[in-house]
Amino acid sequence: MGELDGKVAIITGAARGQGAAAARLFVAEGAKVLIGDLLDEPGTELATSLGDAAVYQHMDVSKEEDWQAAHDQVVQSFGPPDVLVNNAGILRFAALPDMPLEEYLRVVNVNQVGTFLGMKTVAKSMIAAGHGSIVNISSVEGLAGMPYLTAYTATKFAIRGMTKVAALELGPLGIRVNSVHPGMIVTDMVKDAAGGHDVDLSPAAKRIPLRRMGESEDIAEVVMWLASDRSSYVTGAELAADGGATATHAFYMT
Ligand code: NAD
Repeated sequence: MGELDGKVAIITGAARGQGAAAARLFVAEGAKVLIGDLLDEPGTELATSLGDAAVYQHMDVSKEEDWQAAHDQVVQSFGPPDVLVNNAGILRFAALPDMPLEEYLRVVNVNQVGTFLGMKTVAKSMIAAGHGSIVNISSVEGLAGMPYLTAYTATKFAIRGMTKVAALELGPLGIRVNSVHPGMIVTDMVKDAAGGHDVDLSPAAKRIPLRRMGESEDIAEVVMWLASDRSSYVTGAELAADGGATATHAFYMT
């Protein structure tokens, strides 16, 4: 028996990183998964490696028509979605005065509008089914600010906020909505931001209470639990998975 037996899930940004780890774990736990992403090659490879339980769909989460196509595809392949994981996201560093408006809006469109459109799209069929679980991937930047991340932080706070509203509206209809707030997780996003795949990330790990960076699989377990019926009384919650990084109000020194 898998934790997600019989469930159908859409996971965005699942061609690599945390989304890919969630897709692998979901299938291992019995779910059928639509992998949505812009990266067709790794997305298709991952879906192929997962066999009949997965399908890849090219989609830009900031486009409403792409959401409709993804929804149609998942219904056709596996049936109506029981689970949505809004995981796709982008990160842009810039000092506040230097952040071009276009870049700011791109981050808003992918992270914030993408999450809104995802919830809007699946809500209709989840309401019809009378159940569902939506997991929105925010960040520790949805709990506190980080210099040079104005746009990213704004969108991750927005995701945390819209999660609460959706939980309030959809709770009486049997749908749970929660946000996950990962700390620093070793993925291409972080490696690219740090300056490349060979950069030593261990100094950052020393400032984390659990003394290590997170792995994609650490977050996949949290997402899987929120997607499963094991978390049946959890909604509107914000779950930090950050090795304790946000447990302090000050710079962690020991
Ligand atoms: P990643 O860059 O490895 O994966 C992000 C995926 O999203 C990629 O496959 C990318 O192609 C996809 N994507 C980007 N824009 C898209 C769009 N418009 N439409 C569809 N797909 C799109 O990064 P990751 O670390 O796996 O990030 C996953 C999520 O976790 C993101 O929302 C990110 O903000 C969040 N997060 C990451 C960290 C971290 O330290 N890595 C920490 C906190 C939160």
